[in-house]
Amino acid sequence: MKGKFILVIGPSGSGKGTLINHIRSLFPSLVYPKSCTTRSPRGGESDGHYIFLNAEDFKARADRGEFLEWAEYGGNYYGTLASEVLPLLSEGRIALKELEVQGARQVREKIPRNQLAIVFVNAGTWGEMEERIRARAPMAQAELERRKLRYEDEMNFMREADFVIANPAGRLDEAKKQFESVIASLIS
Ligand code: 5GP
Repeated sequence: MKGKFILVIGPSGSGKGTLINHIRSLFPSLVYPKSCTTRSPRGGESDGHYIFLNAEDFKARADRGEFLEWAEYGGNYYGTLASEVLPLLSEGRIALKELEVQGARQVREKIPRNQLAIVFVNAGTWGEMEERIRARAPMAQAELERRKLRYEDEMNFMREADFVIANPAGRLDEAKKQFESVIASLIS
């Protein structure tokens, strides 16, 4: 393994997806391994970032050891297939992926630290996150509550990050610039 795996961490609603979308066209050499999830697609989300699986399928793959990491989050399963990442690292590529923290901890156990970079997106209080989540797409109150329960654990990971991007409300352009320069430093 000689490539690098960039993990983008931060609570639900912190803006990880927006920041990642911003850099997509800027760094053509980066690759974006897909995730598997059992949650339902949001409107207009039929392909791209996620491979949508039913719970039975997901569990079978987990039992067969196909995942580099997987976790339950907000009442659904999310995971990264080893086959989506390890071949890329062996080829010396740089892969970037957003993850929740339980998965990030598993990745840290499996990938040498000098091939990992952890970027944390800090967007403020739960109240602010909740507003963003509600604005993004309809979500059942129960799922929102479960995301709130995960908020503290996600925020505690900030101290373990190599880079922290501040993304408070109204400062998205600055956050994009910060993120861009962190990624530029990692791929140079
Ligand atoms: P969402 O349902 O909002 O798309 O994602 C919920 C959470 O799961 C987010 O924090 C996101 O970063 C995380 N996530 C997305 N894909 C994966 C994955 O493959 N593994 C893990 N552990 N978390 C993921």
